[in-house]
Amino acid sequence: MIKEKLLISACLLGVGCRYDGRRVKKISVSLLAERYELIPFCPEIYGGLTTPRTPSERVGDRVLMADGRDVTEEYQRGAEEALNLCRELGIRRALLKSRSPSCGRGQIYDGSFSSTLTDGDGVTAELLIRSGIEVYSEEELAALLGGRRQSGDE
Ligand code: SF4
Repeated sequence: MIKEKLLISACLLGVGCRYDGRRVKKISVSLLAERYELIPFCPEIYGGLTTPRTPSERVGDRVLMADGRDVTEEYQRGAEEALNLCRELGIRRALLKSRSPSCGRGQIYDGSFSSTLTDGDGVTAELLIRSGIEVYSEEELAALLGGRRQSGDE
């Protein structure tokens, strides 16, 4: 049986690509892997950043590290690489890590580096959504596995 391909934030699979290098596997992949061919991807690494790295947040139309360095270009490059991969492999859906300035969908940190959330998407999530890819956050695993999204979601 040919499975549908699913782009997935690599850190959700326990890959140590987070800014702090920690491996945090937050979802059980067995059900997902039954249904989808999982394509792990980390836009921050493919955008040219290293692990570990200083945390970043979206600040207006830029992405800044906590020490003030502007990494907008790296974030945009990572987003474009994600979109290229989706187009190359015919990927129509993505499951992305919540609240990340790259992968977050619906809510991200507000740019004050004070753990405050605000409505919005990460740079990669935003580009994928704008390009017609269905983006799910990790909290929407059930919807991705066959349920329906909550009302108010797209
Ligand atoms: Fe995970 Fe996305 Fe951050 Fe990479 S950019 S560590 S995949 S949340």
